[in-house]
Amino acid sequence: MNPSYLPSINLSRLLREGGGLQAHGELLGAVPLEGGEIPLHTPAKWRVSVTRLEGEGGQEFWLSGEIAGYAVMECRRCLSPTPVPVRAHFQTMLRYTPGLAQPLLVEEEEEVLLFGHPSLDLSLILGEAFALELPYTALCREDCKGLCPVCGANRNEVNCGHEEKPRTRLAEALSRLLES
Ligand SMILES: [Zn+2]
Ligand SMILES: [Zn+2]
Repeated sequence: MNPSYLPSINLSRLLREGGGLQAHGELLGAVPLEGGEIPLHTPAKWRVSVTRLEGEGGQEFWLSGEIAGYAVMECRRCLSPTPVPVRAHFQTMLRYTPGLAQPLLVEEEEEVLLFGHPSLDLSLILGEAFALELPYTALCREDCKGLCPVCGANRNEVNCGHEEKPRTRLAEALSRLLES
């Protein structure tokens, strides 16, 4: 993976001096997830702010932020790629844990993100927050006509001439009765 693709914030100064810090950026192409990714229609913008908490030897921080963008999902009727707006807010406690290779979310009294490098990789936080706000299904448009159950054509694009709904046996029997 291209390192510049990784969203991150460098907390070296906060670790030394305390205070607060902001960062922002964009995710291109996809939002990273553990074991996958969510494809994006347009770049997703993110911003975070981090404040060092007093006590705990200056190793604890409070992070809050936002990520917003258009994910690409499949229309539930016609299966076309469909842009879906997603906006997520998140906040979490951070604890600097030198030696830890990858950021790690743990459950204590509340959720804490442990990180082992002053340059904190935000992928985990952004990905989890974004995924939580994804809708279960998408529709490309309110009146999407879906796929033809007979030939599979996309009925938004072509008129394949098949009936709107396949006839039931009862309907066929009735029409034969009426014709005779
Ligand atoms: Zn559709
Ligand atoms: Zn058809």
